[in-house]
Amino acid sequence: MCVVLTENDVSQWDDETGKLYHFPKQYQKSVSPGMRFVYYKGKLKSENKQYSSQRLSDAPHYFGVGRISKIEPDDAGNLNAILTDFQRFDQAVLARNGDDYYEEIPESKKSNYWRSSVRPISADVFADIAVAAALTEPRHIISDIKNEVAHIENEADEESLISYLEGKKSSKYVTTYERDQKLKKLAKIIHGTTCFACGFNFGDFYGEYAKDFIHIHHVVPVSEFGGSKSVDPNTDLVPVCANCHGIIHRKKDRTLSIDELKDMISATKKAP
Ligand SMILES: [Zn+2]
Ligand SMILES: [Zn+2]
Repeated sequence: MCVVLTENDVSQWDDETGKLYHFPKQYQKSVSPGMRFVYYKGKLKSENKQYSSQRLSDAPHYFGVGRISKIEPDDAGNLNAILTDFQRFDQAVLARNGDDYYEEIPESKKSNYWRSSVRPISADVFADIAVAAALTEPRHIISDIKNEVAHIENEADEESLISYLEGKKSSKYVTTYERDQKLKKLAKIIHGTTCFACGFNFGDFYGEYAKDFIHIHHVVPVSEFGGSKSVDPNTDLVPVCANCHGIIHRKKDRTLSIDELKDMISATKKAP
C-alpha cells in the first residue's frame, strides 16, 4: 500500500515539505512507517492566489514523492509523520489523467473522495504517477517509451547503467545512455533513494550535497541470465548504497540477491 498526502497552501500546522506532515488521527490506519507517499495539492483557491508561483500548477496535481519514516503523536492526540527521501517532481502531474483520474475512487466515496486529505492508493497507482513524473513526454507516448527502454539484456548492460551513475562515459554505451537515464530516474522515483539492503541514505548521512545519490542495481533472475529480457523498473531495479552494491558483485561468478545480503547484515548484527 502507498498513500497520498495533501499539502494545503495555508496550514495551521508546522508542516515542512518533505520533512514533517501533520494529520488527524482518523487517518491513522492509512499511514505507516516505511510506506511510500505521493504529495498532492488541490486546486488553487482564489483567496490564495499569492501561492501560485510556489506551485507546479494551479490545478489539482501531484508534486513529489517520498517515504514515511516515523509516526509520532502530537500534544493534541493527532499525529505527525516524519518524512524522508523526498523528491520533488520537475513538473506537475495533473490529478486528472485524460478523462480519468490516477486515483481509483471507490463507489462508496464518490461524493466526497477528494475531501480526504490522506488517501490510500495501490502500489500500481503510485507507480503510474511516478512514471508520469519521471518522463517528460506526454502521457500517450509513455507506453511506447516503456517498450523502447525495455531492452537491457544482461549484466553487461547493467554495467553501462552503473558506469553512467558514476559519471564514467564510455562511447560503447552512448546509445544506451538516454535509456539508462530514464530507467534510473524511474527507479529512483518509484523506490526512493534509500538502500534496500541496509537502509543507508546518502542525503541523511552526508547532507544536502549527497541527496538523491544512490546506485541502481539491476536484479537479473538466474533463469533469465544470458537471455534477453525487458526491464520493469518496478521489480527489476533496486536502489542500493555503494557498499552493498560492491558486496553484491564481489564475486564474478555469483550475484547476491537483496535478501541474501539482508540476511548477511542481520546475522553479523546479531553476533556478539
Ligand atoms: Zn546498503
Ligand atoms: Zn548491480
